Amino acid sequence: MSRCIFCDIKDNPDNIVVQNELAFAIYDKHPVSKGHILVIPKRHFDSFFEATEEEIVSLYQLINECKKIIDEQFSPSGYNVGVNVGYDAGQTVFHLHIHLIPRYKGDTTHPVGSGIRHIKD
Ligand code: AMP
Ligand code: ZN
Repeated sequence: MSRCIFCDIKDNPDNIVVQNELAFAIYDKHPVSKGHILVIPKRHFDSFFEATEEEIVSLYQLINECKKIIDEQFSPSGYNVGVNVGYDAGQTVFHLHIHLIPRYKGDTTHPVGSGIRHIKD
């Protein structure tokens, strides 16, 4: 069975914010904003499209739990929720993870285009 950095973190409860049977959540080591969380399935596989329906439900539940935690701790005014699927899409850790990125009024002067559609040349 393949393992990776997220498999190691999964076995280290100190780093886990919340978890359920099939998924867990951690704070991103290099947050793009205050409170940036990764929601991760416990099973090791790389692509969002390989997740089972049960895993998708577990991930979805934790996204909502983490949103509540971030709302209470940091009171953001918006969120980006997204997944990079594949090297060409920017994926660097090949164990599925969903980015839950809180956004704050004024964190960019021009919010239009600063969301998940932004692709640089
Ligand atoms: P991606 O580029 O979508 O594959 O995202 C990988 C994310 O994992 C990046 O935001 C990294 O900052 C984050 N990351 C890498 N290593 C760790 C780690 N040991 N603990 C927490 N987050 C990590
Ligand atoms: Zn893994």
